[in-house]
This record gives sequence, structure tokens and C-alpha cells, in this order.
Amino acid sequence: MSSVLLEVVTPERLVVSEQVNFITVLTGGGELGILPRHAPLAATVKPCIVKVKTDAGEDFINVNGGFLEVLPEKVTILADAAELASMIDVDRARAAKERAEKRLAQKEGVDIARAEAALQRALRRLEVVELSNKAGGALSSGKASEQ
Ligand code: ATP
Repeated sequence: MSSVLLEVVTPERLVVSEQVNFITVLTGGGELGILPRHAPLAATVKPCIVKVKTDAGEDFINVNGGFLEVLPEKVTILADAAELASMIDVDRARAAKERAEKRLAQKEGVDIARAEAALQRALRRLEVVELSNKAGGALSSGKASEQ
């Protein structure tokens, strides 16, 4: 099957650098499905779970938001933060979820938008772990590049 190089990069590390068959990502313009040899484009990326299909199966990447560049042979996502399931500390995500839920339950002195964003980050991380466990985590199985 034809493939395209996917690179997911954060200020801290190269999260993914793999040949993949299909990518789904939430951009500022809506959900975008990217096949190899897609026409060039640039877009913002909304906080989302990027879904990837490879010869080995399906995988999932938490992306906190950033920028997308699509070229026929290469797709780059520059993200504030991004993790494959294998990089996610589940206890930390659960603690972040509880912290955010407690803040949201308070009526005063809370930055609701900030707490809601933190809650969504934690929920996405937990969902990536769950989805990857179900799918077998093609990229999470040690093929992902870490610097
Ligand atoms: P926390 O409140 O636990 O710090 P956060 O949502 O505020 O979570 P971010 O600002 O999204 O954290 O990310 C900061 C850095 O911490 C990034 O490098 C991100 O990849 C990493 N990170 C955050 N949560 C986790 C987690 N549960 N497992 C692994 N890495 C995480």
C-alpha cells in the first residue's frame, strides 16, 4: 500500500517519524483525512486525537494543538505537546482529570476555560490509551522515535 512519512514534532521531542497509509486530523477548517500524495496545504491543528493507519494497524496520538504541513511525500504536525499511548502516564492523566473536575465543581475563583481545557487534555490522553489498547498500538509498540 502507498505511504506517506508522518512526523509529529514538539518543542521537546520527535514523537513520531513513520511511514503511514492514512491520517485523520482535526484542523481549524474541520476534520481532514490525508492519503499519500495529498495536495500541499498548511493548516492549524485543533486539540485532538490524530488517527493513523499503517501496514501494522491503527494508532492514535494525542495532540494538544499546533500546525500542520501537508506535502505529497511528507506530513508534519508541529504540536505544543503530543504523545503516543506508550508515552502517556495514566496515573498523571487521571490526577489531572480529577484536579480539573474539582476546579470545575467550584463556583467561584476558577478560570473555567482553563480548567475545561485541562480536563479535555486529560480525557484525550486516557482515550488514546484506551483506543491504542484495543487496536494493538501499531506505532506505540516501540517503533516510535524518541529523542
Ligand atoms: P499536567 O497537569 O499533568 O501537567 P497538562 O495537561 O497540564 O498535564 P500539558 O501542558 O498538556 O500538561 O503538557 C506538558 C508536558 O507534559 C508535555 O510534554 C506533555 O507531553 C507532558 N504530559 C502531560 N500529561 C502527561 C501524561 N499524562 N503522560 C505523559 N506526559 C504528559
